[in-house]
Amino acid sequence: MKKKVNPAKFKIGNQIILKGERKRVKLEIASLYDYTKINIPIEVIRGLEDGPIMFISAAIHGDEINGTEIIKRISQRIKKKSLKGTLILIPVVNLFGFYNKSRYLPDRKDLNRCFPGTRNGSLGSQIANVFMKEIVSKCTHGIDLHTGAIHRTNLPQIRACIDDHQTKKMALSFGAPVIINSKLRDGSLREAARKKKVNFLLFEGGEALRFQDKIVKAGLNGCLSVMKDIGMLKTYENKTVKNLPFIAQSSYWVRAPHSGSFRILKKPGEHVEAKELLAVVSDPFGENPYNVYSKEAGVIVGLSEIPLVNKGDAMIHIATSHGNAKTKLKNNIVDVI
Ligand SMILES: [Zn+2]
Repeated sequence: MKKKVNPAKFKIGNQIILKGERKRVKLEIASLYDYTKINIPIEVIRGLEDGPIMFISAAIHGDEINGTEIIKRISQRIKKKSLKGTLILIPVVNLFGFYNKSRYLPDRKDLNRCFPGTRNGSLGSQIANVFMKEIVSKCTHGIDLHTGAIHRTNLPQIRACIDDHQTKKMALSFGAPVIINSKLRDGSLREAARKKKVNFLLFEGGEALRFQDKIVKAGLNGCLSVMKDIGMLKTYENKTVKNLPFIAQSSYWVRAPHSGSFRILKKPGEHVEAKELLAVVSDPFGENPYNVYSKEAGVIVGLSEIPLVNKGDAMIHIATSHGNAKTKLKNNIVDVI
């Protein structure tokens, strides 16, 4: 992997941040109808000593704001005296979605399908292009923070290409209860970062439009653990991790066998066997029930929070290890975070 140097003068937008400095930067990405500038708020914290260059970003889906709170707490926690290298914090990437409490950009585009972007493309493509040029391409490491989509909840989990040794080490050091070795998605920040040789993790946890303390703590502890592991922090011990993670090679959604309302019998983090009863769909009187079963064994990593389904709707997300018994978990792992 090509070595990126932590430069004496670090430039983002029109700002220069020297070693030992901490600065807020406004990165211009677009303007509103009345020509008001839209600037992404960024904080750059630089230690005096050399070390990795890492970005931590959130709300690339504008309503996924647990990560925004995680970054707020990281900013309050990190002192430049105890930092090696450069930390770049971006609490809200998709400002348009954030203003509207929406996942999307104003043209309904998903910003996380617009990377690496172009200078004169769609709004999403332009934002992606600036973000790549000004931030990602200058970094050695990156963590992007997400939650479930609206009305869905996710167990804290890391998604990464752990076939890469360094990424796997970083994923393990995060300490999330589940790691999914997931394929790259076209147009995602993760794919674009990997092409720029950035060691990259995607964290998922909780629901959209919430600050959930347990999830925020899992994300905060995870980011600090990674920073310690790669040498950015001298001291930090993640005392909340009690189990080895469940390492999944793939995942699948269990879908509704019939339209109706349902009762789920499982929680995120629970281990299920193949053909285990997960939920019951019924009519409004509780009659004509349809049992919902798992296909393969695994761990429940996501759920629909709306108990009303049409036939075929996604209900329960299960991560599978294809029979890797070593990573089986016995209990509800949410409670050990
Ligand atoms: Zn997301």
